[in-house]
Amino acid sequence: MRDSPKSRMSKIVLGVLICLPVTTALLGSFRVLGGDPPICEEADQRPCEDLLQADIRVVVHQELSTLRAVCPHPESDACALRSASWGEAHCVIHQWTAVPEAIYEHEMNHCRGWDHDDDSAESYHRPWHVNRGLWLARGAGLYRAQK
Ligand SMILES: [Zn+2]
Repeated sequence: MRDSPKSRMSKIVLGVLICLPVTTALLGSFRVLGGDPPICEEADQRPCEDLLQADIRVVVHQELSTLRAVCPHPESDACALRSASWGEAHCVIHQWTAVPEAIYEHEMNHCRGWDHDDDSAESYHRPWHVNRGLWLARGAGLYRAQK
């Protein structure tokens, strides 16, 4: 049976209503997806913009051995383990009890959705970039559109 013109029209209207939030989310993503990617300067000295709004937990390790069992980099004294799915993000900072405050801030910037180029100490001082995979998985486009 063929649709009457009236019911076809209501399907089109429904399609537009569904597409609109998606379009708004996509437009919100262009700030990160298109053009010059945003950077965070002096991320080793100050907080970057919080793009993930993650739920953050800190685990302080008394022993380096337990820390290194959970952190992916074998020589790290701290790490931030992040996960994101639609609408939410989680970040767990694991740090050795003796690390300086600056390292905590460094890991916090990872929790905020930023990364340095590589694992060299020099790259910590260069501008950091957005972790787009996490940012998109978090649904930050929608988050921004609703703000
Ligand atoms: Zn780092």
